[in-house]
Order: sequence, then C-alpha cells, then structure tokens
Amino acid sequence: MQPTRHHADYAWLPSGFVHDVDFATDASTGGGATLQSVHVDAPRAATASLGRIVVPGMPNLHSHAFQRAMAGLAERRAPQQAEDSFWSWREVMYAFAGRIGPDDLRAIAAQLYVEMLEAGYTQACEFHYLHHQPDGRPYDDPAAMSLALVEAAREAGIGLTLLPTLYMTGGFDGRPLSERQRRFGHDVDGYLRLLERLRTIDEPALNVGIALHSLRAVPPDAMRAVLAAIDAIPASPRQRTVARMPVHIHIAEQIGEVQDCLAIRNARPVEWLLDHAPVDARWCLVHATHLSDDETRRLAASRAVAGLCPTTEANLGDGLFPLRAYLDADGVLGIGSDSHISVSPVEELRWLEYGQRLVTRHRNISASTATPSSGETLYARALAGGAAAAGGALAAFAPGHRADFVVLDDASPLLAGRTPQQFVDTWLFAGNANLVRDVMVGGEWVVRERRHRDAERIARRYRDVVERLARG
Ligand code: ZN
Repeated sequence: MQPTRHHADYAWLPSGFVHDVDFATDASTGGGATLQSVHVDAPRAATASLGRIVVPGMPNLHSHAFQRAMAGLAERRAPQQAEDSFWSWREVMYAFAGRIGPDDLRAIAAQLYVEMLEAGYTQACEFHYLHHQPDGRPYDDPAAMSLALVEAAREAGIGLTLLPTLYMTGGFDGRPLSERQRRFGHDVDGYLRLLERLRTIDEPALNVGIALHSLRAVPPDAMRAVLAAIDAIPASPRQRTVARMPVHIHIAEQIGEVQDCLAIRNARPVEWLLDHAPVDARWCLVHATHLSDDETRRLAASRAVAGLCPTTEANLGDGLFPLRAYLDADGVLGIGSDSHISVSPVEELRWLEYGQRLVTRHRNISASTATPSSGETLYARALAGGAAAAGGALAAFAPGHRADFVVLDDASPLLAGRTPQQFVDTWLFAGNANLVRDVMVGGEWVVRERRHRDAERIARRYRDVVERLARG
C-alpha cells in the first residue's frame, strides 16, 4: 500500500520548529501507523496539509483512570480531622474505588482518554491496581479490569502503556492489606500470570509494562522475584517490538513515606531503590518528590525517568521536586496527570515551572543558556522522558516513530504575531484557552476542530455511570 503524505508549515523537530516539513506514514490501520520519512524544506503542493503549527503528542506517564470520576470530591475539610493530608484524601479515594466494576471503569477511562486527547496527550501510562472485586476475590476473568482499560483506550484511540501493579502489603513493616486495599492485592505467581495474559494481547497501540506500587507495598524479595521473571515472559508480535518492558514505581511522594523507609530500611526510598535494584533507563520513579542532593545526582545518573505530576502533587500537598538541580545533572523527566484533578500537559508543565519560581523567587528556572526557552525546554524533556516511560517509539518526528500529530490553532488570537521560537512558550504560559485543534494518533484523526470523534457518546455513558456511583 502507498504511504500517506502530510505537510506541516512548521513542525517541531528535536532541533526546534522547522519550516515546510513533509511526513510519510505507512498504511497501517487501527492507530498503528508509523512515520516512514520526515523531509524538511519540502514543497507543499502535492500533499495534504496538517496545519500551520504541528508538535509531537505528549505521553502522559502516570494515570489512575478511575480517579477522574472523583476529582473535586476531596476538597472539603474532613470533619474529625485536625488537618487534611494525602492520607485523608486516600480514604475518600478508597471509598470511591470500592464501588467501581469493569464496565464502570471502561466508561470512566474512555471519558478520561477523550479529555487527554483533546488536551494533546497521545499516550496514557495506566498505573493499574484496581484488579479484583471489592471483597478481594478475583473476577471470573482475573484480567477483567485490565481489559476494561484496553477497551477504553481502543475506543478513544489513544496509545496505552498498561502497567498492571503489584500491591502486596499495607506498609514497610509488611502488614497485610487493609479491607479497603484487598482488591488491589496479588501474590507474585498470580501477578506474573496476569502479566503473561496481558503480554499476549496484540493491539496496534498497546504496550504492557509493570508497576511496583511502592516500596511500602512490595517487599524486597517479591520485587527481586518479579524483576527476575519479567524479561522471559512471551509477548505478542507488536509488544515484542519494545525491547524491554518499562518498570514504574511510586517512590517518595510523602515525607511520612521517607521517614518510614528510613526507620525500617535505614535508607531514604530513592537511595534504597538505587542500592537494591538495577535502576536504569527502563525505570520510571513516579513522585520522586523528596530527594536529597545525593539522590538527585544519583537518580539523574541512572537515566531513569523522574515521573512528575505537578497538579496532583500540588492538590495533595506533596512537596516540590528539586527541578533545577536535577536538570543541572541532566536528569530525565516526564509528566503525568495521576489523579486527574487536571487533564492538561499545559497545566502540568506550567506548574512544574511556577512552583519553582514561587519558591526561588526567580523566573525561567527550567531554561538555561543552552536552551533559553522555558516552554521548549520543558516540552522537549517531557516528550523524551514520557516516551522512555511509555516504552515505545513515540513523541518525536523521526522515522519509525508512531505517527502522532498535535496541531495547534494558529487562528487563536493568543498566537498572533508570534515567531516559531515563541509558539511553545505562548502555548504553555499564556491564558487558559486550549490551543489544541486537531490530534492524530497512529495515523488516525481522533480530534478534529477541538472535538473528539466520539465525544458525545462517551460522555453520555460516563455521566450515567458517575451519577449511579454518586448515588452509592
Ligand atoms: Zn499514582
């Protein structure tokens, strides 16, 4: 079959915006098309125009899809609580999670993925621990909840890195899971069986990795056993194209977690992990929020991805990541919307920068002499780190990468009079209007003129489900 050709007036290549770029994509269907060639200074005559300003789609490296339906429900002071914290939010989340079944999860996730696409995310990394029935018994099909996410991603047309999550204990002391955590749990064998099942699914835009919930939820011997087993698990032909499954973990979100780790394992969480696991570029350390100077340098040198979720971390009162020191050490980072209190790469990157400005009382913290634009520095780093965390050839306009395009609305007044060097800074820092006009994933248009192709039906089903869940 003939390749499909597309033209962009300005496309964002690793070197910055380039004028008159021609793309050829292969003819794969179902969201699996890849770029065959990228030519610059191409005459525009013979090819379909994508638009004037085209950027790569952003991977969202950390998502708990079900939490989208409870966004906004934990913004009131709990009655008996002296002060609210991550841990009181978690109680609200557990109560909500207890009511969600596979069909509900599919409806919520599909709505979330539509919102992600309309905001410019083209890949979701789903850190998935809602495995079993509320009483802890597996569903008739133990993969039912995982498959609900696969179906939701297929419906919405977003790429999915599914990260089934191992969750075994309720604390560093090895205590058993609480009643509300029971539906999250697996032993190592049960977990590996789930992984084997999911690795054989052959979907154009699906990749399966693993997640260890946290150091407090996975004992060291179980971590070692899973890491020793995963590379021998057979995979479907498409999943085999990813060299190594990504490995994600929640690492140091809360001070309480750092203190418990110090008390029981005699080391801080990131320090402990770097000392006891082969942490390298396949790893994504989500919420590497609380880092010592030494951990910051060592994490950067490991080439693992620091998974940052600024709007959730702000909402939960987690703390601030040492961004400048980490960038000085050339660390890899990416962004995720995690609890989905906000679903927008613009807002994640903006708050990543603004948090630092507020605390340092300086401006343009992510920029440097070599990369003077804050917006371009943040967007470029989040693309690269997000692609690594998602484990695929994604998020770059280069041959062999998935054909994902995000087209900005150049007719927006916000972009008037802007040079190409100012496009991304303006997009990320100016105003609240969403500038994403069209989105293509794997060669298929999923958003046109700001609207997802199936937005209405998916929103209607979501409303029905959430209204029923709200009634209890
Ligand atoms: Zn999380």
